[in-house]
Amino acid sequence: MQLLKERILKDGVVKKGNVLKVDSFLNHQMDIDLLNEIGKEFKRLFADCNINKILTIEASGIGIACIVAQYFNVPVVFAKKTQSINIDGEVYSTKIESFTHKKVYDVIVSKKFLSEKDNVLIIDDFLANGCALEGLVDLVTSAGATIEGIGIVIEKGQQKGGDMIRGKGLRLESLAIIDGMNDETGEVIFR
Ligand code: 5GP
Repeated sequence: MQLLKERILKDGVVKKGNVLKVDSFLNHQMDIDLLNEIGKEFKRLFADCNINKILTIEASGIGIACIVAQYFNVPVVFAKKTQSINIDGEVYSTKIESFTHKKVYDVIVSKKFLSEKDNVLIIDDFLANGCALEGLVDLVTSAGATIEGIGIVIEKGQQKGGDMIRGKGLRLESLAIIDGMNDETGEVIFR
């Protein structure tokens, strides 16, 4: 998506540890005009899919998923990170290791909001090693729901997540794929 790539080049900041900061337009301050274009693009890419629910993970996926959902006219469910895991059987749960915080979270979705009747589009801001997506895929699978597709705003193609998810036969659409970053020069190379 050209508009997104231009914005990454203009306002993205390359940090040490292979981290791209996009907090001026995507996941802290949010440019809603850009998010609307992102929503339209996901709708175009998944136009042939019968999607009735969008699943994301807190925190930074939520705002993006809500805007995207307006183009699909479906509800958003977000997986919650929790310290105290509910063991009364009312939730689906999985474990996710955070790329940015290097911490393992228990992540849950209430059984009320995900079931075998659902055709799900998973949305997230970044794909790096794929832990967050693997966890979301695990939650959908536990619910017996169908994964129609996965929409990622920025995929870091030099990390293993994209290959791992595509290797599972899942339909993954990333709006920008980055193949290299240099934290000294600030250079970002797109695929
Ligand atoms: P993964 O689980 O694929 O390793 O990492 C995905 C999650 O880590 C995303 O939900 C995102 O919040 C965060 N993340 C991964 N790489 C980056 C990055 O370069 N910049 C930012 N801002 N977040 C990232």
